[in-house]
Amino acid sequence: MTLRVAVTGAGGRMGRAVAQAVMSDANATLVSVCARNASDLVGKSVASALGIDIPDLRIGGTLDLSNVDVVIDFTLPESSLAYAQQCAVAGVPIVMGTTGFTDEQRATLDECLGSVASCRAANFSTGVNLAYRLLELSAKVLGDAADIEIHEAHHKHKIDAPSGTALAMGDAIAQTMGTDLSQVARYDRSSNRESGTIGFSVTRAGDIVGEHTVLFASEGERLEITHKASSRSAFATGALRAAHFIADKPAGSYTMADVLGLS
Ligand code: NAD
Repeated sequence: MTLRVAVTGAGGRMGRAVAQAVMSDANATLVSVCARNASDLVGKSVASALGIDIPDLRIGGTLDLSNVDVVIDFTLPESSLAYAQQCAVAGVPIVMGTTGFTDEQRATLDECLGSVASCRAANFSTGVNLAYRLLELSAKVLGDAADIEIHEAHHKHKIDAPSGTALAMGDAIAQTMGTDLSQVARYDRSSNRESGTIGFSVTRAGDIVGEHTVLFASEGERLEITHKASSRSAFATGALRAAHFIADKPAGSYTMADVLGLS
């Protein structure tokens, strides 16, 4: 049966990529597309505004959940919270890729998504989700002896820093080493290195889609694990895979590890 998908953030880079991924999937149908209420895209046809070959579908200013099996949302924390609340009330599963939530917003999300199936990930690419596993293994073997550095690079328009993916990588390493990232993360690099810490650094430049490198450096050797996304389609197809996975699942919070069979 074809999956009926609603996509938010039509004016955004990811919203477009997700809409295109849905259109390329023979087992999914794009049934609803919305943008920010004040956006000049509202009311325009999806075909003309997004260059997608789909007749008779217009961009809404609000999220229309009638006849929708699953929502895919990549927008801003405030709008994602509102969409999550709407999905919870309507009982519609939601895949959410937005990053940059505060702890308070994350707690509100956890609470409101308790009643539907959801999948949230800081990074929906298959390679990054596999990298989390490689990082856990590396931390287990090398963690105590190595200085650990996480570097990420993204395009100059990205709002949050370090990226949600860099933080998730740090979290995977810290948890493996039996500690909490908030205790060992170092974002200000103006002082000397303390052992047992995880250093973060960030590049914001040009049109870089997303690059992450984790370095485990010890006496005489270095291990580097690098992931480079060259197109947003890597995130969009991962999010769509998650949408297929959660659509008929009971209420609960699912991870990309669940989706990819890595959990
Ligand atoms: P973008 O700036 O291109 O798009 C943001 C979208 O949000 C726009 O369409 C904008 O109109 C919409 N928006 C803003 N305010 C809104 C409101 N009040 N109501 C409804 N919509 C609103 O950003 P992007 O590059 O598409 O990224 C979007 C989010 O996805 C960011 O948080 C980014 O970090 C995250 N992201 C996640 C992944 C992943 O794999 N999880 C990958 C790429 C980007």
